[in-house]
Amino acid sequence: MSAPQIENVVIVGTGCAGLTAAIYTGRANLSPLVIEGSLPGGQLTTTSEVENFPGFPEGVDGFMLMQNLRKQAEKFGTRYESGTVVSLDTSNWPHALKLTDREIKAKVVIVATGASPRMTGIPGEKELYGGKGVTTCATCDGAFYRNMDVAVIGGGDSAAEEALFLTRFAKKVYLVHRRDTLRASKIMADRATSHPKIECVWDSVPLTVEGVGEGSVSGLKIKNVKTNAESVLPVKGIFVAIGHVPNTAPFKEAVDTDDQGYFVPLVGSQVKTKTPGVYVAGDCADHHYRQAITAAGMGCQAAIEAERWLAEHGG
Ligand code: NAP
Repeated sequence: MSAPQIENVVIVGTGCAGLTAAIYTGRANLSPLVIEGSLPGGQLTTTSEVENFPGFPEGVDGFMLMQNLRKQAEKFGTRYESGTVVSLDTSNWPHALKLTDREIKAKVVIVATGASPRMTGIPGEKELYGGKGVTTCATCDGAFYRNMDVAVIGGGDSAAEEALFLTRFAKKVYLVHRRDTLRASKIMADRATSHPKIECVWDSVPLTVEGVGEGSVSGLKIKNVKTNAESVLPVKGIFVAIGHVPNTAPFKEAVDTDDQGYFVPLVGSQVKTKTPGVYVAGDCADHHYRQAITAAGMGCQAAIEAERWLAEHGG
């Protein structure tokens, strides 16, 4: 049996962090291999307009931005393979990445696995997720709710953005938030709260997604946490936008995590970890900034660290 191929750099994840790391390690002639998971391009592919990525005064479509990053990385020799990483074994070097169907040896691993949408866990949510009325992506599914009433759950920038996007299609958008002020940035909060199609439902938590029996959403039962009054919003679509959970589980042996599961880099670095030759970048290691541009910056840092480390350790 032939020995497994040994890669210089394997990057896990294809969001802004992973693809920026690929551009930099590609330009350093390291021929990086990028492992693409279930959402190639990451979270930005599910956003509409990105207004705050430097260099695009008119904004840029999230999907286009990621397509361009992918092409840019490819131009410098990046290779892509689909796969799901289940664990990273760093007991020997080169490190061993175990995927569901194969193993890849890598001198350096850059983990840029991002974060997945957090769900509320209320009854009915799981049963009606997908094409049945509960979703986490207005850009993907908003057009199905033309002239219907919908609810967005959450109070951050994502919730405000989803609610505003949905006003293009929906008759009315309820923005259901558990407090009485939005966490979203002022500009987004002002746009959402002043929009004539958006009704903010303050101090309210979701209780149940109604409609399991019928096979599609017929309403969202909520409770006002100040009055304890319960009511049902008669909506056909529910957009959950309550933040994200970092995708770090397969790497917990090699990289420390905090109580929320985010990677904890070494003190004094954003991207170095306790395991030599393993770096982290992007939303999986950042619960503070979580921006496309900060993820790209971390991808760049991880790539430069990787390049230097390889030069010293037999790259
Ligand atoms: P986030 O800022 O963490 O906001 C999550 C929201 O969901 C909060 O309002 C939170 O309520 C609420 N929430 C959390 N758990 C809940 C639960 N179990 N039930 C009900 N409500 C719950 O997450 P995000 O909005 O996804 O934003 C993440 C990051 O991306 C932020 O840094 C944001 O600025 C950035 N972002 C930027 C843009 C943009 O600039 N265009 C767009 C999207 C995201 P509390 O407020 O009470 O905690």
